[in-house]
Amino acid sequence: MADLQAPRGMSDVLPEDEPLWRFVRDTAERVARSFDYRLINTPIVEDVRVFSRTVGDESDIVSKEMYVFEDRGGGELALRPEGTAAVCRAYLEHGMGSRPQPVRLYYFGPMFRYDRPQAGRYRQLWQFGVECIGDPSPAADAEIIELQYTLFRELGLDDLTLSINSIGTAETRRTYVDVLREHLRPHLEGLSHDSQRRFETNVLRILDSKEDAEHPALRSAPSILDYLTDEDAEHFAEVRGLLDASGVAYEVAPRIVRGLDYYARTVWEFEPPAEGSDGGQQGTVSAGGRYDGLMELLGGPATPGTGTAMGVERTVLNLRARGIEAPSDAPVDVVTIPLGERGPAAALRLAQSLRAAGLTVRAGIPGRSLRAQLRSAGAAGARYAAILGDDEAARGVVQLKHLAGDGEQREVAVGDAADVVAGGG
Ligand code: ATP
Ligand code: MG
Repeated sequence: MADLQAPRGMSDVLPEDEPLWRFVRDTAERVARSFDYRLINTPIVEDVRVFSRTVGDESDIVSKEMYVFEDRGGGELALRPEGTAAVCRAYLEHGMGSRPQPVRLYYFGPMFRYDRPQAGRYRQLWQFGVECIGDPSPAADAEIIELQYTLFRELGLDDLTLSINSIGTAETRRTYVDVLREHLRPHLEGLSHDSQRRFETNVLRILDSKEDAEHPALRSAPSILDYLTDEDAEHFAEVRGLLDASGVAYEVAPRIVRGLDYYARTVWEFEPPAEGSDGGQQGTVSAGGRYDGLMELLGGPATPGTGTAMGVERTVLNLRARGIEAPSDAPVDVVTIPLGERGPAAALRLAQSLRAAGLTVRAGIPGRSLRAQLRSAGAAGARYAAILGDDEAARGVVQLKHLAGDGEQREVAVGDAADVVAGGG
């Protein structure tokens, strides 16, 4: 084996993985478009400030996981660790605030995080994400959640649990954070190292801790829902009402938080039901929330937004763990079998016309025997073999052998070949 490998935590998507990946991507794009979301592609690298100003130095993403480098001109760039901040940067840069609001966008692409590689956790990870920017209403949150919910249903992942919560506004959280800190203070010794650090830096994130999830102090923690302002509570009630109306099943889970200040109100995640059913140990498949404070951190006017991001690898792991297969690939319709002197040129022209008619054609390699070429056409699973030698080339015909049927061979005019193949089984 050659001594070079893909970087640790990064992997190749091989042709045999492609059907499931394409199934996820096609379904995601179809569902997004059915909600009138449009694709946005942003660069894979951004000015590091796009993330340091928004996701923030406090977060794991920026403090520990970001790939940062200087380009040759001395600018500090980051491989994007997530999509939302980049989409918001583009929204501001292109003045999308003056378009009819909200602006509905989706993306599908690789993100980079210097995470600890393990099943379901990689350093290059792909995300599908949707953002609804410019609408402060509960309807926008409910729409994003319904879109993600619909996508999971369409993929056949109908047993994921949707948990939702409201974390109010920054103002709500100031009160709650004090209450939470006083509640946790006596238990600090017994909490993990990370939680002890977060006690000082970002106490809210302790609720999010995987290590301490079962700790009595966390289980008995006061609920942020009891500290919502009237407007926050009303917003949350409306989100729930809309989800009920659209038949989206959910649980309210006060432990779900987003530790960043730009988040507001509704937050959620989708998780597999029981341990192991995700084919790895990394639970959350999709997570999102309302981020009303983000645009201002990027220097733009206050603009509400809400969105969600789905991990593609984790989605694929969940599909595999349930034995869900991609709809079968379109077969190879025709393999050409060029023989003799003039067969190869005739075969090229035939292949062109068949492809133009929408058929999939694998080109046979000239110079091999008829037997060898027929064998490889069979191995390719082709429906037809199109045999062209000097005689066929001279007469403008082709011998079509029906491999998927009884193996019968019939001579047809080159101009009729597409119709015969399209009409045959
Ligand atoms: P975690 O707590 O698992 O680290 P996160 O809070 O960092 O997740 P988000 O930033 O919310 O994750 O990203 C949205 C989704 O992207 C996750 O729910 C997950 O499906 C996927 N994801 C995040 N980090 C990784 C990773 N390192 N490898 C694979 N998928 C990931
Ligand atoms: Mg993470």
